[in-house]
Amino acid sequence: MSHEIASYLDPKNLGAWGTYLEQIDRVTPYLGPLTRWVETLKRPKRSLIVDVPIELDNGTIAHFEGYRVHHNLSRGPGKGGIRFHPDVTLSEVTALSAWMSIKTAVVNVPFGGAKGGIRVDPKKLSQSELERMTRRFTSEINMMIGPQKDIPAPDVNTNEQIMAWMMDTYCVNQGYTTSGVVTGKPISLGGSLGRRDATSRGVFVVAREAYGQMNRELSGARIAIQGLGNVGGHAARLFAQAGAKVVAIQDHSGALYNPNGFDVDALLDHVSLAREINGFPGESITSQQFWSSPCDILIPAALESQITPANASSIQAKLIVEGANGPTTPEADDILRDMNVTVVPDVIANAGGVTVSYFEWVQDFSSFFWTEEEINHRLDILMVDAFKGICDVAKKHDVSLRTATFIVGCERILKARQMRGLYP
Ligand code: NAD
Repeated sequence: MSHEIASYLDPKNLGAWGTYLEQIDRVTPYLGPLTRWVETLKRPKRSLIVDVPIELDNGTIAHFEGYRVHHNLSRGPGKGGIRFHPDVTLSEVTALSAWMSIKTAVVNVPFGGAKGGIRVDPKKLSQSELERMTRRFTSEINMMIGPQKDIPAPDVNTNEQIMAWMMDTYCVNQGYTTSGVVTGKPISLGGSLGRRDATSRGVFVVAREAYGQMNRELSGARIAIQGLGNVGGHAARLFAQAGAKVVAIQDHSGALYNPNGFDVDALLDHVSLAREINGFPGESITSQQFWSSPCDILIPAALESQITPANASSIQAKLIVEGANGPTTPEADDILRDMNVTVVPDVIANAGGVTVSYFEWVQDFSSFFWTEEEINHRLDILMVDAFKGICDVAKKHDVSLRTATFIVGCERILKARQMRGLYP
């Protein structure tokens, strides 16, 4: 289907935004009378492009391009991460903001969808340059964010420290301290216990449920993981603790295979020091070999558009749980469906992060903090309930889990849109 797209998004290079639009097309036949409102999902509510100038340590001035996009705010304030990566574009950030709208609706937390980023390779910046860039960017997007307006969080190449700088900059500009402006903060600044591994815990919980539905147990299951960062790294640990074997891994530095399972604690120690898997013991394999490696569960936890028609048909796993946002293209989705591979889509699989972000935001507002057990328990219940609801919708309409998840998310957003009505 051809789309009337926002004119500032390059129609020849839609990338992840094109994937998202295709997903909306696939869900539209199931939306009934709400279809009248579906166009609202195909365009962001507002987008901001900012120039981020900083003085480098060598005295020269560098300029970076930054973005913050509010995709949909029908159900609450914007929510979504901040990405620092050299390939960040407005189109990518727009897609990621849209997936946040769907995700917050799927787990039924009272947020809309937003996302931001800076087109930069942060590995090339010193710590003080990184801080200056983060603070200037926060100031430039100041009019978009706030505890009641839009609450950023970490994403690729951003972390607790970046959130601390963002919170401090926002609070200094406002003239008072308000910790709820970002989530994924350090505990000492009002962060939540359990947030650090919440996304991975959600991935683990839905993998456990989906694998259970296949009458299989995680103990002894062979896992392949792309990306050993915040999401993939903690996921590796949780799967290993459940007795599964992490047999294949890939990151920006290469791919490794070990049929007996890696020592995950040693692997994560190596990654935290070296910032990459390169140098860790294991059989070095190519990217193509990684995708075709013998495994039961595959967890893409790096970037978008990684599972494509070029590698989908060689995948051995019977279950794919999308830790990353948008890792599978629609064409690859079709190939996997024909191969009878179950794909648990990103908008439920990695929703554990935004769920505990919601818990963090609630705790900040009430200034009353919960125990880690409470948080993990509430997360488990919420993810299991959401996943069961999606499985019921998938059965009812005889559709893939992705389409079912989009039916649940889009219905919630569009019902809110319809109830609020158009102004004027
Ligand atoms: P991160 O920066 O902590 O880790 C990213 C990982 O991807 C690293 O291991 C890196 O080496 C790897 N990687 C980068 N480029 C690669 C390439 N070309 N090939 C293979 N590997 C590559 O990021 P993260 O926070 O773990 O996010 C990973 C994914 O999960 C992203 O899609 C993000 O949007 C999504 N996500 C993150 C969160 C969160 O709470 N952090 C929540 C929901 C979804």
